[in-house]
Amino acid sequence: MSKTPVTVIKGDGIGPDIVNATLRVLDCLDTGFEYQEVIVGQAALDAGESEVMPESALKSIEKTGLVLKGPVTTPSGKGYRSVNVAMRKHFDLYANVRPTLSMPGTQSRYNNLDIITVRENTGGMYSGQGQKVSEDGNRAEALSVITRSECERIIRFAFDMARARGRRKVTLAHKANIMKSTSGLFLEVGRQISEEYDDIEHDEVIVDACAMKLVMHPERFDVIVTTNLFGDILSDLCAGLIGGLGLAPGANIGENCAMFEAVHGSAPDIAGKNIANPTSVILAAALMLEHVDQPENANRLRRAVRSVVAEHDRVTPDLGGNATTDRFTDAVIERLG
Ligand code: NAD
Repeated sequence: MSKTPVTVIKGDGIGPDIVNATLRVLDCLDTGFEYQEVIVGQAALDAGESEVMPESALKSIEKTGLVLKGPVTTPSGKGYRSVNVAMRKHFDLYANVRPTLSMPGTQSRYNNLDIITVRENTGGMYSGQGQKVSEDGNRAEALSVITRSECERIIRFAFDMARARGRRKVTLAHKANIMKSTSGLFLEVGRQISEEYDDIEHDEVIVDACAMKLVMHPERFDVIVTTNLFGDILSDLCAGLIGGLGLAPGANIGENCAMFEAVHGSAPDIAGKNIANPTSVILAAALMLEHVDQPENANRLRRAVRSVVAEHDRVTPDLGGNATTDRFTDAVIERLG
C-alpha cells in the first residue's frame, strides 16, 4: 500500500491521551498512514514558538491535506483567538460533519438515533469579525457575517452528502424570524437549493424549537444543516442524547484539506487522569479512513469500538465503567484481532 501522510496534532488536556490511544489502534490496521506530528496553541507557545499556529504546522497541513487532531484549549473571554476556529478558516474547512449514532451499551436517553449535523464552519457568529469591548467594559459587540456563496456550498454539501449516503431528509435549522439578515439568507438559499433535490425530503425548523424537538423526538431527524453557532450547540446536544461527548466524532472538510477530531474539548476536569474516553477520536479516525477511501478499515474500527462499548468490557467512567483510557484501548485492539 502506498504511504498516506497525515499531520497529527495531539492537542491539550486529554488530547495527547486520546490521540495516542487512536494511533495505537490505527497501528493495528494496514492503513499506510505516515504521521507528521506538529504543535499548535499553548503547546506551541510553551515550546518557544512565537505564534499559536506556527509556520511548521501550517506547512505540514498544506502538504498532507489530512489532519488527525486532539482538542485544543482556547482561553475564554480574553487571550488569543481560538486556534480551532483559525485553522478552519485558514484551510477553508467549510463543512463540519458531526454524526451521532446510538451505541448499544451506553446509558443514554435514546438507543435508536442516527443524526448527522452539518455545520457551516467558517462564517456566522464565529467569523471572528468585529469583536469589541468598550473601554469602560460596559458594551460588547461582535459581527455575524455569512455570504450567499457560504450558504450555498454548505447546504449543497449537506444535500449531496445525504444523497451519497442514502439519507431521506435534510432539515434546515435557522432563526430567520429574528435574525432576518443572516439566518434569513441561509433559509432563502436553503429553500432554493432543496428544490434541486427531488429525491430528498426537506423541512425547516427554528433553532430553539429544534433543540426542544431533538430532546423529545430525535428519531424524527436525519440530516440537520445549520449555521456555525447553532451547529456547535445542536451537535453537542445530539452527542448528549446518545451518551455523551466522549462518543462524538467530527470531520472538518474543505476542498483541499480535511481535519478529523472529537466534537468535545480538552476536558481540563479529567486531564492527566488517564480516564478520558478515546472513542470520539477513534471514530474520527474512522471518518478519516472513509475519506481516504478505506471503508473496510473504517468499518473494522467502528465494529471494534461498538463491541467494547456494547459488552461493557473495560469502558471508561463516562460510560459507567472504571477502566482507564489505556485499558479501553487494549480492549479495542483485542477486538481488532
Ligand atoms: P469539553 O468538551 O472539554 O468538556 C465538557 C465535559 O465533557 C467535561 O465534563 C468533560 O470531562 C467531558 N468530556 C469531554 N470529552 C470527554 C471524553 N473524551 N471522555 C470523557 N469525558 C469527556 O468542554 P469545555 O470544558 O467547555 O472546554 C474545555 C476546553 O476545550 C476549552 O478551552 C474549549 O475552548 C476547548 N474546546 C476545544 C475544541 C476543539 O479543539 N475542537 C472543541 C470544544 C472545546
